[in-house]
Amino acid sequence: MIQRIIVSKAAKDALVYETGKFKYAETGGILCGHYKSDAIIITSASGPGPNALHSIDQFIMDKDWMYTFIDREYEISKGLNIYVGEWHTHPETTPRPSIVDAKSIYERTLEWEYGDIVFIIIGFIDFSEIKIKDQIVAVCYEKESDSICEIPIQFQEDQ
Ligand SMILES: [Zn+2]
Repeated sequence: MIQRIIVSKAAKDALVYETGKFKYAETGGILCGHYKSDAIIITSASGPGPNALHSIDQFIMDKDWMYTFIDREYEISKGLNIYVGEWHTHPETTPRPSIVDAKSIYERTLEWEYGDIVFIIIGFIDFSEIKIKDQIVAVCYEKESDSICEIPIQFQEDQ
C-alpha cells in the first residue's frame, strides 16, 4: 500500500501554473511518475489538453491529448515514467473528493495493473503558489480496507 506521494518540483510548478490558468473553472490533467517502495514519485503533471471541457463544477479531460502526454513521458524517461494518476481542481479551499471522484479512483485502481494510482485535488479559491500546500489533497483507493484514503504529500524541494 502506498504511504506517501512525492511531488517533484517540475510537477508542482506545472500544477501551480495550470491551476492559475483556469482560476474560476475546474481543470486538471494526468500525473506521470513511478513507484519506489511505499511511495509514488510524481515527475510530471499535464494540463487538460486543448479539447477539454471546463465548468464551475465539472472537468472532462481531452483524451487524445492525455494519451499523447503519457506516451511522450514514457519515451523521454526511457520507460521509467508511466501513468500514475490524475489531478483536478475543485471550487473550495479545503478540497475533498466528491462521490464521483471516489467512484472514478475506485474504478481506475481496479483497471490499472501496474500499481496503485493517486488522485490529487487542488482547491482553487484564493489560490496562490504559497497556499498550494494547504489546498492540495492526495487520495488512493485501498483494496485491503475497501476505502478511499488520504495519503501524505511531500514536495521534493523540501527534502
Ligand atoms: Zn472532483
